[in-house]
Amino acid sequence: MNQQRIGLGYDIHPYEKGRQLILGGVKIPFHMGLEGHSDGDCLSHSIIDALLGAAAAGDIGKMFGVDLPEYKDAVSLVLLEKAWGTLKKTYRIVNIDTVIICQEPKLGGYVPLMKKNIAAALGIKESCVSVKSTTAKKLGEIGKIKAIASRAIVLLISK
Ligand code: ZN
Repeated sequence: MNQQRIGLGYDIHPYEKGRQLILGGVKIPFHMGLEGHSDGDCLSHSIIDALLGAAAAGDIGKMFGVDLPEYKDAVSLVLLEKAWGTLKKTYRIVNIDTVIICQEPKLGGYVPLMKKNIAAALGIKESCVSVKSTTAKKLGEIGKIKAIASRAIVLLISK
């Protein structure tokens, strides 16, 4: 019988001046970007962790080693594709739901392109990918525009 497996991912990156802000592979005009060994794309990172979590296959740190030189400034959408590549023989993605917690900038206009990029990286329909964004109501570090966080949940079904 096909087994259904659910997975959860969470990531947060601090803002850093002089970096390009990238979420779901979309370059977003802003005066800061997210710090990180890779491109800092916390949305893509949270989805990687949700996928690996659903398969009980470790996490992004274990798979891509945060300090490995080959992943310096890595495009996180490519990491997402690679991570899924290790699982897709065994599983099919039913759906992915995500929420980005970001005080500024406003992200709504970029959501369609994020969904398109994520679906393309995973080889699934856009209708299987949900991206939402919310603010932190000015509370905490995210509310003070010091960081962006993302949560993702994914349902896999074994082949
Ligand atoms: Zn990350």
